[in-house]
Amino acid sequence: MEGVPTSPRTERPQLRASVPLLPSKQMDKANTARTAVEKKRGAQCNGYSAKEQSRAERNELEKKPRGQEEKTAQQVDSWKTERTRSVEDNELNLPSLAGAYSTILRSLGEDPERQGLLKTPWRAATAMQFFTKGYQETIADILNDAIFDEDHDEMVIVKDIDMFSMCEHHLVPFVGKVHIGYLPNKQLLGLSKLARIVEIYSRRLQVQERLTKQIAVAVTEALRPAGVGVVVEATHMCMVMRGVQKMNSKTVTSTMLGVFREDPKTREEFLALIKN
Ligand SMILES: [Zn+2]
Repeated sequence: MEGVPTSPRTERPQLRASVPLLPSKQMDKANTARTAVEKKRGAQCNGYSAKEQSRAERNELEKKPRGQEEKTAQQVDSWKTERTRSVEDNELNLPSLAGAYSTILRSLGEDPERQGLLKTPWRAATAMQFFTKGYQETIADILNDAIFDEDHDEMVIVKDIDMFSMCEHHLVPFVGKVHIGYLPNKQLLGLSKLARIVEIYSRRLQVQERLTKQIAVAVTEALRPAGVGVVVEATHMCMVMRGVQKMNSKTVTSTMLGVFREDPKTREEFLALIKN
């Protein structure tokens, strides 16, 4: 696979995900720098060059107010029940979302009143709500009755789970496959539920690194297994349609926890099994 960044098994995604927005002037600089980096090593969409990123991280560490740290701790606790949107919210917000799409059309030099576009703002708004429906669901919703006791201590793998997500830097899709493996510790999760976990986290605004980690953490928190491995392979439209325009470049991210992280043999078994 061409253009695959060589950084599996990394904890960095979490840091990347928490990088704050830069002022627009710096942002321009960041984008320029990033394009250069992309060309060199094959792109990965994180919106920042390595240099800008580490600076932004440093700034954040220095400036982080105390309240924000507490919020982070709370977020960790509420991983199962976090729900930021309801079906009612969708109905309530649809008109303003559609209005925003009319503005976008006008700003692009289009005429939102022409026949072909008359219903487009509403269609686009409804579609966007669907693309981000993960905000309406929680992991707790799907874990009910899905965990069962079993004296099975061999690796469980579900591979090639289809994944459709939205890049939070460009609001365009990134799509691909997710492979999940875990080594049970007396508890199993219904197999279809692994795909549901992928669905909940991918149907949000995401970066691939965070998505990968969130899936691994959810499985770990739900089952307390001996270990979990998650590999995500995806094609980012923001890379394919703009920037480097490499049709076949794939971004691969992985998170290994527990024995998948500590024991190379377990990890290799997992990686070998998901290969074919
Ligand atoms: Zn992007």
